[in-house]
Amino acid sequence: MPEHILVTRNFQYPDQPELKIALSRGTYEQWKRILSEKISPEDIINEVKTAKLRGQGGAGFPAGVKWGFVPQDTPKPKYLCVNADEGEPGTFKDRALLEKDPHQLLEGIAITCFAVGIHTAYIYMRGEFYDPQRIVQKAIDDAKKEGLLGKDIQGSGFDLEVIIHMGAGAYICGEETALLNSLEGKKGWPRLKPPFPALVGAFGCPTVINNVETISGVPHIMNMGGEAFQKIGTENDGGTKLFGISGHVQKPGLYELPMGTPLKELVFDVAGGVRDGHELKAVIPGGSSTPILKPDELDIPLEFEAMMEAGTMLGSGAAIVLDETVSIPEVFMVMSRFYAHESCGQCTPCREGCTWIYKIARKIYEGNGVPADLDLILDLAPMLDGTTVCPLGAALAAPAIAIVEKFRDEFLGMMKN
Ligand code: SF4
Repeated sequence: MPEHILVTRNFQYPDQPELKIALSRGTYEQWKRILSEKISPEDIINEVKTAKLRGQGGAGFPAGVKWGFVPQDTPKPKYLCVNADEGEPGTFKDRALLEKDPHQLLEGIAITCFAVGIHTAYIYMRGEFYDPQRIVQKAIDDAKKEGLLGKDIQGSGFDLEVIIHMGAGAYICGEETALLNSLEGKKGWPRLKPPFPALVGAFGCPTVINNVETISGVPHIMNMGGEAFQKIGTENDGGTKLFGISGHVQKPGLYELPMGTPLKELVFDVAGGVRDGHELKAVIPGGSSTPILKPDELDIPLEFEAMMEAGTMLGSGAAIVLDETVSIPEVFMVMSRFYAHESCGQCTPCREGCTWIYKIARKIYEGNGVPADLDLILDLAPMLDGTTVCPLGAALAAPAIAIVEKFRDEFLGMMKN
């Protein structure tokens, strides 16, 4: 097993969601310590900044820096929105955190809210997450009864309500501003930024939006100190990350590894490499919106900047491994169909571009493509990047360019002329 186990350290215990059990294993100790020792919000934010905790939903923005953007001199209420929408194809880490250790998340929420001066936290949960919703709601109710959430927590005078809000199953509502609109009861359409949610977020008020994994890491920072947490990872990406590896590997699953672990090590050492008798064809490293890599491109540290320098992204850390039995044109057709379907339709380049990329991909997959179709995709895809309200268009554009450029011969092999 990897050496550094933080957010998954209690995953092996099926009784961890029970409050008494969670308390016996040390959950809420940091929350109680912060209140009893009167640790200041500024000290908590500084610790999280030192830890170099990055947003684990895919964007990788430093969490402590984001918290620091929230104005403290506003008369408006402030909110925390925990993004538990987890819709990126290939990703299955937040569901595990919600189901297996809900009190760890609630402790992270409490500490975050105290640090930023927030008294209402929403957990925006993917519509299909029936079991996580039930488990987390019970955890909230139990923690409230125990005086760890709610009014005048532990006699400190600090109040915090935690509310679960279920989405309706739209991928786009994982985008932070679409999430806000959906939370407010509006159509789940992304908003233009600026203004950023830290200034104008939920209900027009300053709002912190962080992913489940990001918030679950906060108690560990307070436990071990920001510096020790940072040292587990790399200079700019502190701590560990959950990697969900699926597809044609010997041991698919969820693994917590130090930030900066080479992708090659994840695929071959941790997940055991491809199935016996098969060859590795490609890896989609961080969910379907991250550009595909060929077998000779895997010697990259799993950290945000290094992955970008290699022409791909860390994304949500969901690696999809493909062996030689996979048809890349079929992967491309299925992937582009997903983005065409999930485009909210608000911007013309995304609405039309994703649809046309899907139509061309399907034409090729059905055996009716011509070589000029590949050039058309390469012409069309860049028009989706940087011309839209949110990054969904780019989430198809970048992988489309990579897949067509790297597997051009396989596409051409499906064409009649
Ligand atoms: Fe909607 Fe696509 Fe525009 Fe995002 S880029 S706002 S998903 S149309």
